[in-house]
Amino acid sequence: MAKNGLLRPINRIDPKFREIRVDQKKENYIGAICGLGVDRFSDQPAMPDHDMEVAFDTNITLEDIFKINGVRMAINIVLGSEQAVSNWGEDAIYRLQDSARKKLMSLIQGTTREPFDAPSTDKPYKWNQLDPEDILGHDLQNTPADSLVLLHLHKGVYLRSEGGEEEEDEIGVEEATLEMRRHANWLHQAATSATSREPIVCRLCNMTWQTPQLLQLHLETRRHKDKENALYD
Ligand SMILES: [Zn+2]
Repeated sequence: MAKNGLLRPINRIDPKFREIRVDQKKENYIGAICGLGVDRFSDQPAMPDHDMEVAFDTNITLEDIFKINGVRMAINIVLGSEQAVSNWGEDAIYRLQDSARKKLMSLIQGTTREPFDAPSTDKPYKWNQLDPEDILGHDLQNTPADSLVLLHLHKGVYLRSEGGEEEEDEIGVEEATLEMRRHANWLHQAATSATSREPIVCRLCNMTWQTPQLLQLHLETRRHKDKENALYD
């Protein structure tokens, strides 16, 4: 079956750890270090020869990271929890694959990306350079959506320009709309970051979702997207 054929190349091309680099003002993602992380006893790079420092040459946003995680989650769920997935029925699998495919396509061709001349990082090939407070963790460890064997989910990093307090261009927007925008953003985060088995309510559509995966599918629907886009009209 294709499953094993797919696992091997993923392991080969996908580094075990990656840490995003931000510029000094914490306004842009400028690159990432990818590789095997640090040795937890010595705190030194575990296998420095295998680490790779990558500089971004286009603008990458937090939304991009969420989309990438959405694709990774779909692969992890479909390949890693065959049993569970087989109970969902073909339709759910199809929608999961379709949602992953669309995210991937929108990453590749959906947005015209501005070229970005990233400043180089101060400490190349050094791990653990992020302020822990800035790391937007997810709580999907030990769930089928995150996987040690397959694809680790990326951790987002807080940028001052995203969701910060200084939203100058938003003066005049109704507080209720701002609140809904925050809720919509939060939903995208919850779709990749909630462990909780608590149902998640989409207040835009007044619908309740039992798992982050189902919420993720909902966020891709026309119905939801129209409502979300209307918040920015
Ligand atoms: Zn919705």
